[in-house]
Amino acid sequence: MDRNYSNWQSFSNLLLFLLPFLFVGWLFDLFWPITTLALLGLVCWHYYYQQKLIKWLWQSRTLMPPSAPGSWSYIYDGIYRSQRRSQKRRKALARLLRRFREAAEALPDAAIVFRADGALLWSNKLAQFYFGLRWPDDAGQRLSNLIRHPEFYAYLNEGNFEEELTIPSPIRESLDIEIRIMPYSEDQFLLVARDVTQVKRLENLRREFVANVSHELKTPLTVLQGYLEMMDDPQQTPPAMLKKAVENMNAQSTRMSNLVDQLLTLSRMETPSDDVFDHEVDMPAMLEQLQAEAKRLNEAKQHTIEFQVAPVRIYGKENLLRSAMQNLITNAIYYTQEGGNITVSWKRVAGGAEFSVTDNGKGIPAEHLPRLTERFYRVEDDRNSASGGTGLGLSIVKHAIEHHNSQLDINSSLEKGSRFSFRIPSGLLVN
Ligand code: ADP
Repeated sequence: MDRNYSNWQSFSNLLLFLLPFLFVGWLFDLFWPITTLALLGLVCWHYYYQQKLIKWLWQSRTLMPPSAPGSWSYIYDGIYRSQRRSQKRRKALARLLRRFREAAEALPDAAIVFRADGALLWSNKLAQFYFGLRWPDDAGQRLSNLIRHPEFYAYLNEGNFEEELTIPSPIRESLDIEIRIMPYSEDQFLLVARDVTQVKRLENLRREFVANVSHELKTPLTVLQGYLEMMDDPQQTPPAMLKKAVENMNAQSTRMSNLVDQLLTLSRMETPSDDVFDHEVDMPAMLEQLQAEAKRLNEAKQHTIEFQVAPVRIYGKENLLRSAMQNLITNAIYYTQEGGNITVSWKRVAGGAEFSVTDNGKGIPAEHLPRLTERFYRVEDDRNSASGGTGLGLSIVKHAIEHHNSQLDINSSLEKGSRFSFRIPSGLLVN
């Protein structure tokens, strides 16, 4: 409730206070001494409440003012009200600030506010994670001292923020961070940074993939082109050479067609499809067919191939499982020297059933093992050899068994042999 305090009220209060003294002074003929005494008393009274006010303002911790009579009650109340008003405003502002900070923390991006002179004003948690900032310890420090990277330094100095900048995180080098800077208020800037590691990785993969496919197709095409040029004038080409040319051209076109088939298989596997749990796969029957195929493939090398197959059926995708097992068996035949020993096994193990192919071939150097399932990755770069693989086989295996909640395990030692295996979890076994 507002209290009005007019000049007239103030004057009448003074008059009401003085009147009895003036009257007594006049009555006893001591007008001036008594008036002076009364005014002195009034000054002391004001002095007393002024001291009380000072004490309250500077020493008291309570918001409630001390009680005071007369005009002082207006002063105390007035101060109290304005303090309450500013306290409410401060609280509303703090609420607003908290909400803003909570929103900024919830952002999937790192956010930093800094002044035009580069001084750090605020940063969210993600910014502290990406750039190793310490908040609030680093407040006021220059951003170029905190994020030490020559490209970032040049970017800040140049002041042209139309394009974004991508740098590795100064404290986590495996992360690529894309930075954008926007003017924020009069002399402030907002820096927003996001993790683009995955995007960059995919971009590199795509570039690598296109380069690899072009390379893989170019090699057989060059061979074909060479033969075609040679056969331009068939009369001049001896029949034996013609026969060889046709054989080689056949081999090269088979290679290209295999490559395209494998690429199509891979791209089909990468698109998510319906539930694997719906289809029952007769693994023993499928392995019987694969055994017959292996026998045909094995004619040249004459390995001893043993199939140990337990009667375990599973839920899954027949064509994916066939691709995976076929690739592993073919690799064992291909990468084992003539007359080797290969064992293909399918059996129940703790937690599911395991498929494995073990050979006593040339083995794989340890440094290659982690990368074997990457597309086009080969241990020996035999791209130019007509019989060389495409480097897509194990990538297909990996994707095929991922659809069955499984992963490929590779154990290999040089000159001793390799073992490729995957375990189908018990949830996918048909009881
Ligand atoms: P590729 O088409 O070249 O066979 P894969 O993806 O199937 O491609 O295999 C990748 C590489 O792994 C091969 O180039 C080969 O060097 C190596 N590799 C695969 N299986 C075996 C194995 N059983 N023994 C030795 N090396 C193998």
